[in-house]
Amino acid sequence: MLFKKKFAPRRKFCRFCADKKLPLNYNRPDILRDFITDRGQILASRITGACAHHQRLLTREIKRARQMALLIYTATHDNVVKKKSMI
Ligand SMILES: [Zn+2]
Repeated sequence: MLFKKKFAPRRKFCRFCADKKLPLNYNRPDILRDFITDRGQILASRITGACAHHQRLLTREIKRARQMALLIYTATHDNVVKKKSMI
């Protein structure tokens, strides 16, 4: 029995390999934000399609951006800071 695919899955590719000019740096949280969840977790490379080399660089730069307070650590962290500042 033959199975017909309903849709062809799009091939994932590494955005940083495809576009060499795309900066991978902690001071570009607008780009790094594409690689974390809304709760602040770093997405796995099997989801984003980043290659092993760029995934390593990506995690390092996301962690740097967190220390510089450009990205969030967790979703709840933001609320805790707000509550403490209200007291
Ligand atoms: Zn790559």
